[in-house]
Amino acid sequence: MRIVLVGPPGAGKGTQAQFIASHLAIPRISTGDIFRYNVTTGTELGRKAREFMERGDLVPDAVTVAMVRARLAEEDAQEGFLLDGFPRNVPQAETLKKLLAEDWDTRLNVVLELVVETDEVVRRLSGRRTCRRCERVWHVLYDPPARTGVCDDCGGELFQRDDDSEDTIRHRIEVYNEQTAPLVSFYADEGTLIGIDATGPVEEITSRALAALRPFVRLPFTTFHQNDGGSSSVSLLPTPEL
Ligand SMILES: [Zn+2]
Repeated sequence: MRIVLVGPPGAGKGTQAQFIASHLAIPRISTGDIFRYNVTTGTELGRKAREFMERGDLVPDAVTVAMVRARLAEEDAQEGFLLDGFPRNVPQAETLKKLLAEDWDTRLNVVLELVVETDEVVRRLSGRRTCRRCERVWHVLYDPPARTGVCDDCGGELFQRDDDSEDTIRHRIEVYNEQTAPLVSFYADEGTLIGIDATGPVEEITSRALAALRPFVRLPFTTFHQNDGGSSSVSLLPTPEL
């Protein structure tokens, strides 16, 4: 099962990527992790990437693609993977398609989009407050401290980081939409795109994602618990891989 996960900042993509990948028993491959691995272990690609980063330049697509390709070639990714953070644009999507066809004679099964409205993302991210002393992150709505503006853990003062200000968040979402809208259309045209509502409790979103992925999943895979009020265990039925 080869999946790409897309979603705006604040959609909970990292968390969902972990849950979905572990339910489906496939590795979660994030570009962030690949970068850190290559840079810290000092691979040739990591050294190349570092040169660009140290100059303050963007790492070119060719370097990113080479890192992703090397990761996909590893043993644990041969039965499937969930990609998180790649591809970011249409040229990368085209490269990935070519790569899978040429190196593995295969293709993506599905692209899962976490859909969250901009106002909801702003509400989530702009409510974050960070402790000046211990750096714990609170949320004014979802995880408030007992006393407004004061950290429960250490008594430190809470503040809003610049990254969490409404203007910054709206700008990040705009940039994301500009980059990703064409990517989403690309996959919609290919017929591989499915979107799920990514609002509500984390477990509900995971259930929704797994339910949406079910038609694409083939055995053998783990069973999962569906959170539809009850806690029935649902086995995944064998369906042909698309
Ligand atoms: Zn604190």
